[in-house]
Amino acid sequence: MLIKLILLALGAWVVYRLVKSYGRRIKQEDAPKLEAGEDMVRCAHCGVHLPRSESIVSHGVSFCTNEHRQLHQK
Ligand SMILES: [Zn+2]
Repeated sequence: MLIKLILLALGAWVVYRLVKSYGRRIKQEDAPKLEAGEDMVRCAHCGVHLPRSESIVSHGVSFCTNEHRQLHQK
């Protein structure tokens, strides 16, 4: 009877470990796609990093805001 209980506990632990590692694998697969989805550029004025689609590009130089673009050109 005691052996049955130990086997049951062991089985439950193995299932728990499998479910946990499976869940972690799914998270690891999703994360890099989100990060690699868009190029990051650096503001030439303040150095902040932002997605390329949100940046303002002027003469091949990226800026975070229109204000920084104007400040940089002065
Ligand atoms: Zn900036």
